[in-house]
Amino acid sequence: MSNPVGTSHSSNTHSFNTLAIHAGQAPDPLTGAVIPPIYQTSTFVQDGINVLRNGHEYSRGSNPTRGGFETQLTALEAGHAGFAFASGIAAEDALLRAVLEPGDHIVLGADGYGGTNRLINRLHGKWGITNTPVDITDLAAVAGAVQPGVTALLWVETPSNPLLGIADLAGWARIARDAGALLVVDNTFATPFLQQPITLGADVVVHSTTKYIGGHSDVLGGAVIVAERIFRGQSLAEAVGFQQFAGGAVAGPQDCFLAARGLKTLGLRMERHCSNAARIAEWLTTREEVSTVLYPGLESHPGHELAKTQSRGFGGIVSLQFAGGEATARAFAESTKLFALSVSLGGVESLVCYSSEMTHASVIGTPLAVPKNLVRLSVGVEQVEDLIADLELGLAAARRASLVAATA
Ligand SMILES: *Cc1c(COP(=O)(O)O)cnc(C)c1O
Repeated sequence: MSNPVGTSHSSNTHSFNTLAIHAGQAPDPLTGAVIPPIYQTSTFVQDGINVLRNGHEYSRGSNPTRGGFETQLTALEAGHAGFAFASGIAAEDALLRAVLEPGDHIVLGADGYGGTNRLINRLHGKWGITNTPVDITDLAAVAGAVQPGVTALLWVETPSNPLLGIADLAGWARIARDAGALLVVDNTFATPFLQQPITLGADVVVHSTTKYIGGHSDVLGGAVIVAERIFRGQSLAEAVGFQQFAGGAVAGPQDCFLAARGLKTLGLRMERHCSNAARIAEWLTTREEVSTVLYPGLESHPGHELAKTQSRGFGGIVSLQFAGGEATARAFAESTKLFALSVSLGGVESLVCYSSEMTHASVIGTPLAVPKNLVRLSVGVEQVEDLIADLELGLAAARRASLVAATA
């Protein structure tokens, strides 16, 4: 959390792109290296028994490379303290263990990451944690799902995955406050460049830094960033910090270095992700193979006006639904070349995903299942004309598939 090596040299009055490069990332005081070294060490020499140099003892407790990244991300999320983990799911698990007690209830945004749902239902369910899925766009339903005295957390993603619904974060925060519960926002899709949930009243932000923060599809990681809050008599920072140390699912120094390097260019990349995605979404609305384009930047999107009030852009994820149904969606997903058929998102390269079976297989057959005619695009930062030409290949394959289906 605190990082004696990296905390100098920046102030929270700086703007986003300046903080992204300087917060927690000051040059190495020992050698002058502009880029702080990767502290690839498990332990730290002591100057006497329990006399620690700069507070570091053992890298599960703290490591300067991890601390630098945590400081950097915390500044960008306007948080109070931040903690880096080995994956997004490890971060979420640590948060749940840090704040929940057996018997607690979670109001859970229905249209979210499949792995979060699996974690809460299948791992935490065993310890008596229950949840109620709710439509993230319906504040009355959110308030109605609260069980007074039992609900400890409200958990939401916006834009959501993969339907790209928009939740009113200030509204969710009011409901959480009234319930004496914490609001947790998974900010992986929007990133702090587009939206800072803590400034809108959220208590906790979680990230899969695997996605836009790392930004290059070369590292797994996760983070929990907390506001300055007391919950159940303990500060959130202390509770999550203790869980990180005692539970031990920490991010390693190499991974933190890669995530920190990616984070420095987040603003630049997000601007291009957003402009490419907007171009592609508009273009897709003109194509007859496509019945629906889900992108909050489209004026036709039901969350468009709300998104404008709480974020400075609409992100790089576009979902589309095919008029010809499942067979055409599958043919499209298997036929693009630049858009690689993969799970995950947020890297510089474009990806295509058949969500119902690739990321949301754990909810097939439940009300949370994703439509079978839906494909999700993670629009990268390539030249947009090349991306559109590539999507043409997919649409041609979709047309062939619908002809085959029609004559079968
Ligand atoms: C990928 C993802 C996660 C899980 O993160 P991992 O790094 O894969 O463990 C959580 N939430 C969202 C929105 C994600 O996209």
